[in-house]
Amino acid sequence: MRKIAIYGKGGIGKSTTTQNTVAALTEMGRKVMVVGCDPKADSTRLLLGGLAQQTVLDTLRLSGSSVRLPDVRANGFSDTLCVESGGPEPGVGCAGRGIITSINLLERLGAYDESLDYVFYDVLGDVVCGGFAMPIREGKAEEIYIVASGEMMSMYAANNICKGIKRFATSGTVRLGGIICNSRNVDNEYELIAHFAQELGTRLIYFVPRDNDVQRAEINRKTVIEWNPACKQADEYRSLARAIEQNSTYVVPKPMESDTLEGLLLEHGMLGAA
Ligand code: ATP
Ligand code: MG
Repeated sequence: MRKIAIYGKGGIGKSTTTQNTVAALTEMGRKVMVVGCDPKADSTRLLLGGLAQQTVLDTLRLSGSSVRLPDVRANGFSDTLCVESGGPEPGVGCAGRGIITSINLLERLGAYDESLDYVFYDVLGDVVCGGFAMPIREGKAEEIYIVASGEMMSMYAANNICKGIKRFATSGTVRLGGIICNSRNVDNEYELIAHFAQELGTRLIYFVPRDNDVQRAEINRKTVIEWNPACKQADEYRSLARAIEQNSTYVVPKPMESDTLEGLLLEHGMLGAA
């Protein structure tokens, strides 16, 4: 079973990209579980047709030790298995610890059975808070993809995430599998992110174009693959899924100094227009 975590700046497209890629993997015959690790609990919405899944932490609070697997795991599009970890009550407790509580419970309930080809963790945050590094710190996820775009702040976040991965990679098995560019139509974006990935010691695994069909599918509470399997964007997600399936390059990333990162942005003309 491949244990994959998707990281990236807030709002960059982690949940959308994860669910669309997972939908494409199921078309390839893969059995996939998605574990949302965001207190917003919106990591499986498109796979579940908009249904709000009861979170693991809420269920634990309500039912205590009598929780059963079907209470916290729903079947989504194409037999995907969908879990939302949820969060602590606002202002109380550590969300990161909650993620580990949920994963440990899933393990105890037998959720990670051998028929699974993939588990995807959709993780909030930029690893500013150590809590969100939990899945990689505890070895729950071994293969990381970072979603980024050519916008400067998303690249800063990606670089910070690499610092987190590097810290835990030295003592564990976690590795960076690549950067997924979720395009924001920035000038020279492909070259910029490809160069950025190279500097980090990894590679641009796929460039996902920006396309309004993503929003059209979202308003229908579906992945693009389910909403319109024949559209161009559906093929983009299929290509991303294949790139992940075929990936064999896993690295300990080399995070950049901020001067180097800014130099890269200048070199590709992003800051030069002013
Ligand atoms: P958060 O950090 O809040 O969890 P996120 O990284 O999971 O955010 P999403 O919720 O997946 O981000 O995406 C944010 C918005 O961007 C969504 O409304 C989605 O429709 C849109 N979006 C994502 N990818 C694309 C794309 N390739 N083309 C067009 N719109 C996109
Ligand atoms: Mg999200």
